[in-house]
Amino acid sequence: MPDAAASIEREHDPMKITAVEASPLNIPISIDVLGLNKPMSLSMCFVAVHTDEGISGYGFTAITEEEVITSIVEKVAGPAIIGDDPRLTERVWDKLYWLLAPRGQTGYAAHAIAALDIALWDIKGKALGQPVYKLLGGARDRVPTYATFGFGFFDRDQLAEAAKLWVSNGHKRLKMTVGNSALQRRDEPRRLPDVIADDYERVKAVRDAVGDEVEIYIDANCSLDHYHAVKLARRLEPLGISFFEEPITQNDVRQMADMRRQTSIPLACGQNEGLSFRFRDLLAANAVDVVQPNVAITGGYTQCAKIAGMAQAFNVNIANGGAWIHHNMHLQAGMANGTLAEYHYVAVECCKKMYKDLPAPKDGWLDLPQAPGLGFEPDLDAIAELAKLPASGGHGKG
Ligand SMILES: [Mg+2]
Repeated sequence: MPDAAASIEREHDPMKITAVEASPLNIPISIDVLGLNKPMSLSMCFVAVHTDEGISGYGFTAITEEEVITSIVEKVAGPAIIGDDPRLTERVWDKLYWLLAPRGQTGYAAHAIAALDIALWDIKGKALGQPVYKLLGGARDRVPTYATFGFGFFDRDQLAEAAKLWVSNGHKRLKMTVGNSALQRRDEPRRLPDVIADDYERVKAVRDAVGDEVEIYIDANCSLDHYHAVKLARRLEPLGISFFEEPITQNDVRQMADMRRQTSIPLACGQNEGLSFRFRDLLAANAVDVVQPNVAITGGYTQCAKIAGMAQAFNVNIANGGAWIHHNMHLQAGMANGTLAEYHYVAVECCKKMYKDLPAPKDGWLDLPQAPGLGFEPDLDAIAELAKLPASGGHGKG
């Protein structure tokens, strides 16, 4: 290295990444509401990035195959960033993009980059003594929350009871699933018209149970075709729905735009999109009312902040879909057009097994922690034990 460059490098006082570790997790939890004790599990990949200054950052991704992401991080992406300065998040992100997704691939690469990018922002915050949301811009110190409670395995009466329970616990906004994997299961003897007819009755049961003051959101997890998504939306309009998330398979941009012209219910999507061009297309086509980049999936804070900026140019807000409130609260608080953070019951229960001192919402609001970085720390012993459990052997949900 020439002398001048060497002296600049010394002045910059680089911090260096010394090790990257990844843990595949498939966390079993029991849903203990209404006396159900229903077992289920979610898969995720936990990432630790260590530095020569003794600061470590912790990242995370989910709704993917945990073994695949662990392998990418440990064998490809991690080794590539050893020696890099973790605070230079844009530089590292760009390097990972060209390494993992050089032709615009939007799948596993985005998950791996997300997990690493979150860890780097955790390090940057700790190095600078600031919480991540303030580094992003610090638009607000607390975020409104909604509770995702309405799972498909509840029957109609249980759903109404659960809704009342969540409202009595201080939640003013509730999200429930619809669609019930209808397209995926279309060869089973259950026609799509029957599924959406049942969906209407389920949403009505919740509305009747909680009254008009509570906001209700619905999420089809990309499980419907255009025709049935529109039909369901129109039928639900009188019940007052605050947004319809991922109504159509693949977040099909043209069909979303067409659906938006046919219903007064606001449309939202984006939680599982990997690269920013997908959001550009949704916004340019007027296909959404709310975009939902998820930092644990959509390439971390570095890319999600850009997507928020792009949405701002279209006067569109962002909101958290796809769970992981503790990581996404920083994006929603940091950006001016940030709005809701998602208190997804199952995801939060998983995080309680992985992390210490997690902030909890109160009366529909979540105060951002002021500790540097993410503001909460992993329980590394617990994570090491959880990593020994059997793999999911498939794709997590959320
Ligand atoms: Mg969702």
